[in-house]
Parts: sequence; structure tokens; C-alpha cells
Amino acid sequence: MTINVDQSRRNFLRGKKPTIAPAFRLPWITSENAFINDCTKCNDCLSACEENIIVKGPDGYPKIDFDQGECTFCQDCITSCEQTFFKEDKTGQAWPSKFNIKDNCLAKNNVYCQSCKDACESRAISFAYIDSAIPQPQVSQDLCTGCGACIKPCPTNSTELLLFKELNQ
Ligand code: SF4
Ligand code: SF4
Ligand code: SF4
Repeated sequence: MTINVDQSRRNFLRGKKPTIAPAFRLPWITSENAFINDCTKCNDCLSACEENIIVKGPDGYPKIDFDQGECTFCQDCITSCEQTFFKEDKTGQAWPSKFNIKDNCLAKNNVYCQSCKDACESRAISFAYIDSAIPQPQVSQDLCTGCGACIKPCPTNSTELLLFKELNQ
């Protein structure tokens, strides 16, 4: 399968820093501005998502809440939406995101845990002994799809997805 790598993801892979955007909106939107301009806050996408991960954000617009579960990329939210702010090509990343494991991770603090790895079907998280008594998490950004499946199972809220600045424009 060929996966297109968009410019923002290339920037990350070249070492450019991501910036936290206000929220993860629906997958494959063209930009935050287009979304805010055209979303009517009808909430059709909230009821369309069987994973129940789309919630009303503090600004009234829909956003993804990965604390509720993962995105299966089923596109039902897109089908339910009458607006046109979605990318035509949906073979690439749904969100230009970076995955991160924060320093309060149990394994990083020498407490055995691999719950995030068990949740990740893409095998973007692996564990290896690196001068440590227990295996340490290793992340492959190339393999991470941004599904968020690893977020809910983490007992210390250490797993996070960050959006690239480009989506914020
Ligand atoms: S693609 Fe599917 S699982 Fe993901 S937010 Fe949309 S409806 Fe929910
Ligand atoms: S599930 Fe959370 S605490 Fe456990 S290893 Fe993964 S990031 Fe660390
Ligand atoms: S967000 Fe990335 S690291 Fe987490 S489960 Fe999905 S593919 Fe794996």
C-alpha cells in the first residue's frame, strides 16, 4: 500500500517542531480555517461516529476526544457531513500529528508497563532494554497512523498526539 506523506509530516520527519493546534477536528480536513468557516455545528458527525470519540468542544465545534477511544478511520463522520472541507485524497495521514510518550510514563520511571504497545495495531510502539532494568518504549513516527488507540489504555496519561502547526492555519 502506498501512503502519501504530506508536507507537514515531511517537516516533522526532517526535524521541524510540531505546534499544538486547538483541537483534532474530523479526519482529513483541509485546514482548521476551512473547518471553522464552514462547519455549521449541526452535530451530525457526533451521532455518526460509532466509536463516540467526536465531542462538542468548548468553542462549540466538533473535536476528537481520544480519551473516549480510537479512530478507526471508517469515514462515517465525513459521509454524514454536508460540507466540503475534506481532502479528496484520503490515502494519507488523517491528521498531521506527532505521537509522543511523556516523561511520566511508568516504564520510563522503571515500573513495568506495555499497555500502549498492546493497544497499537500498527506496531508503532516497541520496547527495548536501554541501560534500564525494564524495557523502555520506542516510537516509530512512520508507523503511527494517529489513531489514538494507545491513549485511553495508558494508566498515567503519558501517551499523546500533537498536531502540526500547519493544520492550525
Ligand atoms: S473516521 Fe469513523 S471512527 Fe474516526 S472520527 Fe470519523 S466516524 Fe469516528
Ligand atoms: S501505557 Fe503509558 S505508562 Fe505504560 S508504557 Fe505506555 S506510555 Fe508508559
Ligand atoms: S496513535 Fe500511533 S502509536 Fe498510538 S496506537 Fe495509534 S498508531 Fe499506535
